[in-house]
Amino acid sequence: MLPSPRLVLVVNSGSSSLKFTLLGATGGPALVSGVAECLGLPEARIVVRDNGAKTVVDLEANDHTGALTAIFDRLDRAGLLSRVAVVGHRVVHGAERFRESVVITPEILAEIEACSPLAPLHNPANLVGIRAALTALPGVPQVAVFDTAFHQTMPRAASFYAVPMSWYRDHGVRRYGFHGTSHRYVSAEAVRYLGLPADDHGIVVAHLGNGASATAVVNGRSVDTTMGLTPLEGLVMGTRSGDVDFGAAAHVARATGSDIAAIEEVLNKRSGLLGLSELSNDCRTLEAAADEGHEGAALALEVFVHRLARHIGGLATSLPRLDAVVFTGGIGENSTRIRAMTTARLAVFGIRLDETANAACVGGRTGRISRGSGPVVVVVPTAEEGSIAADAARLAGLVDVDRPPRRAV
Ligand code: AMP
Repeated sequence: MLPSPRLVLVVNSGSSSLKFTLLGATGGPALVSGVAECLGLPEARIVVRDNGAKTVVDLEANDHTGALTAIFDRLDRAGLLSRVAVVGHRVVHGAERFRESVVITPEILAEIEACSPLAPLHNPANLVGIRAALTALPGVPQVAVFDTAFHQTMPRAASFYAVPMSWYRDHGVRRYGFHGTSHRYVSAEAVRYLGLPADDHGIVVAHLGNGASATAVVNGRSVDTTMGLTPLEGLVMGTRSGDVDFGAAAHVARATGSDIAAIEEVLNKRSGLLGLSELSNDCRTLEAAADEGHEGAALALEVFVHRLARHIGGLATSLPRLDAVVFTGGIGENSTRIRAMTTARLAVFGIRLDETANAACVGGRTGRISRGSGPVVVVVPTAEEGSIAADAARLAGLVDVDRPPRRAV
């Protein structure tokens, strides 16, 4: 009898939710995936997707460890847990310490902890997931994959804020960038799809989901990105403001007597598409509302596109040549309207939309949506879990490095 193929468990442990995906070590579709929601609250539950079926499981212990224990129990009963050969963890902030994914040791755990002041909401939650997995699967290697790692190649001109250097020296204040796993995977896929030379290309990737960022990539390396010290900078997002004049925040703080934490909360949770539209953070809802004459929804989409086009233009100045603009993320992969509005603004680069191809390229399809001889516009679905699994499998020695795993679905 053939031995059962070995599996990779991907864990994305956030502040109030914990996502997991079980994949084959050589890629392919997820076997089981799920999300533990409302952690810390009485209504905490796990929603599991298994072969297209959705099951909701109530949690006895409503914290991260309780959620992981319940997930492991379930995988064990299905005969899958003993096949897990490595666990890949998403870690949000790796600061300057982590330029690539690493196998987790006690020393690495301490170093991830040391990065926590830069991401106080995220890294501690990531660490809870890592510790729970280490306890539950003691003999299994665990790998940390950092959102910031891909951007560690940015030149210093793109990394520094024009603030006193003591902010950098004393508090680590500089631009780090996020969504690195997605930008790395999507840029590599776009280069492969377009047949661009690995050592001679310049592209801009726009990852547009509820969080959004764009990155300039030269020869497989990030050279500039729109997010900064935190994921608040840059593009307009679902609930995050993106770029905003700090003077505006100071003005509102003075006028209302709000403290820094309250203003930060507004900029992170009540701004962006939601703040502008006063309706929703969801692009699909806003498109439907704009069609019915909702002014706020129309304005939110216009500002979103303006900021995006302006950033793509700015990022292009870090490239030797603009070969391609790549759309990914829930909005980038599906919103024909946002793509059409944005490419219309990129006419200055000689970019022309192919409307038929744009309409066809939705729902997880990869494809070119531009025409003519200018820079190419392509849509490439992201696969963050698949990329984390690929790194974990590689570092655990499960796959041949010369034969990258197939893409996860
Ligand atoms: P993500 O965070 O990558 O899952 O992306 C979520 C965003 O994608 C939300 O704003 C959704 O409204 C948006 N989205 C998903 N499907 C569509 C669609 N068909 N048209 C417009 N936006 C979409």
